Amino acid sequence: MDRPAERPALAPAEAELSWQESALCAQTGPELFFPEPGSSTREAKFLCGLCDIREACLEYALTHDERFGVWGGLSEQERYELKRRRAGRR
Ligand code: SF4
Repeated sequence: MDRPAERPALAPAEAELSWQESALCAQTGPELFFPEPGSSTREAKFLCGLCDIREACLEYALTHDERFGVWGGLSEQERYELKRRRAGRR
């Protein structure tokens, strides 16, 4: 008898990014999340606030030192400040 088909394991890189399948921003364009300098990030942050994977997104951005755009509801500057605060607690 054949073994039941198993779901193939994700390759490490795919597994690391699998949370992005639920990304609310994937349903919009990137323009909101990568605004021109000086443009508002309010709409992007609003959508992030509704996104189920906000925490995973933010941690990914912090871990991978994403320098541009809104990730996990925080702008570049806000992520930089969060990293500094976390580093100060060590
Ligand atoms: S938290 Fe924001 S940037 Fe991250 S996946 Fe969700 S909508 Fe996109």
